Amino acid sequence: MKLDILAIGAHPDDVELGCAATVAKEVARGKKVGIVDLTRGELGTRGSAEIRHEEATNAAKILEVKVRENMNFEDGFFVNNKKHQLELIKMIRKYQPEIVLCNAVEDRHIDHGKGSSLVSDACFLSGLQKIETFLDDASKPQQAWRPKHVYHYIQWKHIEPDIVVDVTGFIQKKLDAVFAYKTQFHNSDSEEPETPISSKNFADSVLYRARDLGRLVGVEHGEGFTVERYAAVDSLFDLK
Ligand SMILES: [Zn+2]
Repeated sequence: MKLDILAIGAHPDDVELGCAATVAKEVARGKKVGIVDLTRGELGTRGSAEIRHEEATNAAKILEVKVRENMNFEDGFFVNNKKHQLELIKMIRKYQPEIVLCNAVEDRHIDHGKGSSLVSDACFLSGLQKIETFLDDASKPQQAWRPKHVYHYIQWKHIEPDIVVDVTGFIQKKLDAVFAYKTQFHNSDSEEPETPISSKNFADSVLYRARDLGRLVGVEHGEGFTVERYAAVDSLFDLK
C-alpha cells in the first residue's frame, strides 16, 4: 500500500506529541498516513511495552491512520548504522511516502536526535538504486524510493520552527491521541513514579504550545516543523 505520509517516532507517543494534529488534518483531507515506531518504548519508567502497544493501537484508531508498525529497535540503545538504516529503508520502500515526518533534530531524550538522523539518512539512502533490499520475496528487490520531503516535528525542547501548520479544528483529536497513553501522561489515579512527562504541567504544555504557535501565525492552533532543505513555493501568495 502506497502512503502519502509516513510519520516516524523513536517511541510510541512521539508522533502523537509532535505532529498528531497535522496527521489528523491530512487524514481528514483524504491523505493516506501511516505511523512507524522505532522502538516499543520498553525502557519507559511507567507502564510496560505491552501496555504501550495497546495504547499505541488505540491512538492509531483515533487518528485513523492506515497502518502502524514497530521496528522493534532497542529502546535507548539503537544507533544510526547500516543495519538500522537498511531495516528502515525496507519500510520506506514498502510504503513509498511523499513526505516523512520524524523526531526533533535534538531533544531531551537521546533517542529523539538519534531517531531523527537515522530516519533522515535512511530516506536519502532509500533513493539509491544500488542499495538492494528485499521484503518478502527474496528474488524480487524492492524499488528504490526517496521521499520528497523530510520534516522534523518539535517535541520536548523549544525549537524554532521553519514551518507552522495551521491545525485549528484538529487539536482535540491530538489530545485524545496523546492521552490514549494513559500510563505515560498525567493521571491523578496513577501510583506509578512521576516522570518529566507525567506532570500536569507537561499535559497542559501540549495544548499551550499549539496555542502559542497558532498565536504567532494568527490562527488558533499550530504545529511546528523544521526542514532540512529550504521550503520552496511557486508564489509568495501561496503562504497563509
Ligand atoms: Zn520519545
